[in-house]
Amino acid sequence: MTEIQSLLKLQELDMKCRDLETALRELPVRRQIDVLEEDLSTLRERLSCANQELNQARKEQKHEEWEIKDITMTISSISQKLYGGLVSNPREIENMRTRLDTFEVTKGKLEDGVIGIMEKVEALESEITDVNSGISRKEIELGKLTQKRDLEITDISAKLTDAIEERKRLQSVISDPLIRKYEQLAQDRGGFAVAPIRGNLCGGCHVALPSSIVILAKPNDRIVRCENCGRILCWQE
Ligand SMILES: [Zn+2]
Repeated sequence: MTEIQSLLKLQELDMKCRDLETALRELPVRRQIDVLEEDLSTLRERLSCANQELNQARKEQKHEEWEIKDITMTISSISQKLYGGLVSNPREIENMRTRLDTFEVTKGKLEDGVIGIMEKVEALESEITDVNSGISRKEIELGKLTQKRDLEITDISAKLTDAIEERKRLQSVISDPLIRKYEQLAQDRGGFAVAPIRGNLCGGCHVALPSSIVILAKPNDRIVRCENCGRILCWQE
């Protein structure tokens, strides 16, 4: 392999390294993991809210149940007095009946309230179960994706290391001035400094090369540049 051919090979390796670095940065699985992590954080937030609401509802339920107990005792004590023959004054009896009615209405409302709270508790408990199983499913999925990502990173990194090693080896057989020229040209031309000759066309700008240039470039033993784009030409059989 001549220096020019080695240089073309080195350019291919540089392109490969850039592609591998891009692949490493833009692994599709990374995006999938991000989406999954966002979903998980939303679910965990929902779980925390539902748990808070559940605690609140249970407290309310307990409170209402105490109120019902209290009111039941009051009702029973008024009833005992009223129906136990202890009160004979008609105005007092009337007054007690009115109070009894009011307490019964309040008790009825409290009992309806408790039923409402119990339904809410049930709905929250079922939501918590659902959210928890959703979280478990997503966590399993996340574990699998993380494993996939790590494997892909290991695989690409190994390829990158190989390419870098191979580049070092090639660089050692190319003269420093030629490497410097290549690197400068590559910088100006989007990483594409060495153009293979295809037919009689420059592989870089696709312009037809004069036959004198092709003849000069054919042995690949000197730097011959395309007159149009300035790239170093490399003859390929
Ligand atoms: Zn050209």
